[in-house]
Amino acid sequence: MSKQVPEKVDMEKIVSLCRRRGFIFPSSEIYGGLSSCWDYGPLGVELKQNVKQAWWRAVVQERDDMVGLDAGILMHPQVWKASGHLEGFTDPLVECKSCHLRWRVDDLKDNKCPSCGGEVTEPRLFNLMFKTFMGPIEEQASVVYLRPETAQGIFVNFQNVLNTTRKRLPFGIAQMGKAFRNEITTGNFIFRSREFEQMEIEFFVTPETDQEWFNYWTTERLNWYVNLGIKRENLRLRQHTKGELAHYARECYDIDYLFPMGWAELEGIANRGDFDLVQHSSFSGKSLDYFDEETKEHIIPHIIEPSAGVDRSVLAFLCDAYDEEIAEGETRALLHLHPSLAPIKVAVLPLSRRERLVQAANQIYADLRQCWMVQYDDAQSIGRRYRRQDEIGTPFCVTVDFQSLEDEQVTIRERDTMNQIRIPISELKTTLQAKLEGEDLFVLPPGGSIWKGGESG
Ligand code: ATP
Repeated sequence: MSKQVPEKVDMEKIVSLCRRRGFIFPSSEIYGGLSSCWDYGPLGVELKQNVKQAWWRAVVQERDDMVGLDAGILMHPQVWKASGHLEGFTDPLVECKSCHLRWRVDDLKDNKCPSCGGEVTEPRLFNLMFKTFMGPIEEQASVVYLRPETAQGIFVNFQNVLNTTRKRLPFGIAQMGKAFRNEITTGNFIFRSREFEQMEIEFFVTPETDQEWFNYWTTERLNWYVNLGIKRENLRLRQHTKGELAHYARECYDIDYLFPMGWAELEGIANRGDFDLVQHSSFSGKSLDYFDEETKEHIIPHIIEPSAGVDRSVLAFLCDAYDEEIAEGETRALLHLHPSLAPIKVAVLPLSRRERLVQAANQIYADLRQCWMVQYDDAQSIGRRYRRQDEIGTPFCVTVDFQSLEDEQVTIRERDTMNQIRIPISELKTTLQAKLEGEDLFVLPPGGSIWKGGESG
């Protein structure tokens, strides 16, 4: 077995794998696609759900100081006035006088059109929010916006959550969901699209502890990616310069990932101070303060916001997991996805299509499906079937052979090492559970043995 892939996978390989194996398709493909919109296929939807579940588990389920929320995509238009999005959520744009493509000013090369080299117009401001109308009449008074971030749903529900959960500072609210931005320069696959999903935390703290919590969340969020398998050397923290800081932020760090096109933002962590609660309080006329029982004072909490993109995380996990090596004279492409993220946890592979074998394999398949996403595959040679599972990141294959009918044992084959063990069917579920949670393959259940058989067949 030898390594074949370059250090950094190129995006084409990832796009092609996603298309070919049903992770991600271009939106409305039969009509020629819709620019910068993507559909998640059968494997993609599993991977994406697993990413979201891992996040929810880490930031809500396992913590005592966080609760969840799921606010609507459409919100009162005043929200966007208060937040500054109606005024400030704009990119300066230029238009090419020859090919009429529009560009962000920071994407220009020598003030020329990056596509045809043509002359460009003066910059104009362009609002990134999608507009629509509420109700039957399309008039200015009924304009609403598709939210460009999930965060505002949290701020406007601050008092509701406080009153119904009896949480005390410091505590946080987490939310994931769709956001929409009429981005000008898109591209790089799902890195920047017009419809995407965010996973956002707003963590409310007393003003004097904001720095401490800012540092805490920066480390915590970086570790989340590392614990789910992203190589540390492919992640970096980048502090925003004063000129770069958003209007609401006192301090901001990006967690950047080394994507195929270079370092780019995966998640932003911002110290938003009291900006949001003060703004919404003044625009709504409702008090959004907090009564501190200890000091007997009303205060406006400060907010630390770790804001991540689901789609960018999916892309980073895919890029980081992709690998190629030479195994038994052939190229083996594989995804070293963390077991908790892998779309399919186990594949059941009968060695042949003979009826008795198929019956036994089907029974195992039905049984394992109660616990995990499992695939059944009986087409082509066993070697080919292993490769198919490797390529989609399935951590374990269970092979059912003729001997299984005699000794009631099956083989478990591990994706990364291609090592195999043979164990009693009665021990299969508990063994797989332990292996998926990270136990070494060679820790054997009673009656198990190390399998010396080959890979291909
Ligand atoms: P960028 O500078 O790349 O446009 P941003 O700083 O505007 O991103 P934020 O407003 O901080 O992004 O949004 C938080 C997170 O939401 C980002 O870190 C990213 O993961 C995700 N995100 C933002 N815009 C998009 C998009 N158009 N497509 C996919 N994900 C996005």
